[in-house]
Amino acid sequence: MEENSTLVETLPSVRGFISRRHKMLIDGKMVDAASGKTFASYNPATGEVLAQVPEGDKEDIDRAVSAARRAFEGSWRKFTPSQRGQLLWKISELIERHADEFAQIESLDNGKPVAVARVADVPLAADLFRYMAGWATKIEGNTIPLSIPGGGYFAYTLREPVGVAGQIIPWNFPLLMAAWKLGPALAVGCTVVLKVAEQTPLSALRLAELIQEAGFPAGVVNVVTGFGETAGAALAAHPAVDKIAFTGSTEVGKLIVQAAAGNLKKVSLELGGKSPNVVFKDADLETAIPGAANAIFFNHGQCCCAGSRLYVEKDVFDQVVQGVAEQGKQIKLGPGMDLSTQMGPLVSTEQLDRVCGYLQSGRQEGAKAVIGGGRVGDRGYFVAPTVLTDVKPDMKVYQEEIFGPVVAAIPFSDPNEVEAAANQTIYGLAAGVWTRDIGKAHSMAEKLRAGTVWINCYNVFDAALPFGGYKQSGWGREMGHEVLENYTETKSVCVRIR
Ligand code: ADP
Repeated sequence: MEENSTLVETLPSVRGFISRRHKMLIDGKMVDAASGKTFASYNPATGEVLAQVPEGDKEDIDRAVSAARRAFEGSWRKFTPSQRGQLLWKISELIERHADEFAQIESLDNGKPVAVARVADVPLAADLFRYMAGWATKIEGNTIPLSIPGGGYFAYTLREPVGVAGQIIPWNFPLLMAAWKLGPALAVGCTVVLKVAEQTPLSALRLAELIQEAGFPAGVVNVVTGFGETAGAALAAHPAVDKIAFTGSTEVGKLIVQAAAGNLKKVSLELGGKSPNVVFKDADLETAIPGAANAIFFNHGQCCCAGSRLYVEKDVFDQVVQGVAEQGKQIKLGPGMDLSTQMGPLVSTEQLDRVCGYLQSGRQEGAKAVIGGGRVGDRGYFVAPTVLTDVKPDMKVYQEEIFGPVVAAIPFSDPNEVEAAANQTIYGLAAGVWTRDIGKAHSMAEKLRAGTVWINCYNVFDAALPFGGYKQSGWGREMGHEVLENYTETKSVCVRIR
């Protein structure tokens, strides 16, 4: 009993929601899949079935896209920017009102600690909607001075919604990724078909209900549950979808680009990473060590921006590696619904196999696990926080995205050369730099080929701060005002006035 005293009791509303016969949102109604099929979502802490959800496929995507098209041409057009903003603001309020509920749903479906979801995923999602609510009234064009001899023209630009947006999201931050996608698209006046990840469909289905409650007209937001190869692929290839926004693996991102080519829909991608985190010997190690641990262990390493290559200046390498290992050792693993849990299970059995496969390959290739190195227990999908040393650049654990709590620690001796090693990757999503030398910090920020550079911090997100990738980490940016580019077209209007 004593041991279980920190277990959170599932809220009656959450119990009621999870045990319900789930439906998805198409054309303003909660509906079954056209095929009538369902699939299971699992509780990763136990491996047991948590819920059955509709298995949407091509036919459901067709229905959703038609509804989104009708809404785009009809009801949604009639909403003023201010009214769109008010609806977005309302969603943020509804998320906040149901914050405890969302945190529990997220924890049960994804595995993450409920306490983390409550202070990170849920408030960040609410804040994203609130930030985007403000943009709805600020999608402005310009007046353009022309240089045509003799003059006589007046020219201006309009920024218009791109149309029906297809959006495909992953399972690592289910509610937050839904917010990142829906917020900007709705702010500018697009309509949306959102395909959520098959591993974690539940929080988006609860959000769909709140979207209904907020008062969006039918068809403006459609939420489809289903698999990537069927529902996702149908959405990416759909000829009546004007834009596809995808977050997930680089491998699938390339498939999305190919699928989108049919009607040349606009594409934005937020993909994988193998982010370098560089600790110089002049860093404040008291913050750099927990910072480096947080960079990789936050969300169990299931972050596209996880600081998975830890470069440490030689003189302090042992100290930093020991420190990060000590931090990792102290992390309490357990079910997400236990308040004392600091790291939950990985999301799925596939993910468990994938991460353990990398650990095995690292061992075979000669890497050494200072801590961790494998699965914990035989129930649920738990993997021990792992610090690898003796890692060589040609090893898979050095090159490839593991998407688990596994960091490769690499010493460097020449501070002028570390950026070359840090940039030696196909990815370019994020990077970290730890130093007290302000010149070195900014110089590194300039040299690192990454969409985000965190200096003396890591994993800091804000709705106003753009996020996205260089190189094979993506196209376009999420958040900030830059994301609005993903969902708008610029129209030039040229008027002869005399
Ligand atoms: P992960 O490897 O982290 O599961 P994926 O890139 O496989 O990430 O999945 C991210 C999202 O992409 C999920 O919603 C998934 O269903 C979807 N997806 C997977 N394969 C395809 C595909 N071929 N076409 C469209 N979407 C896909």
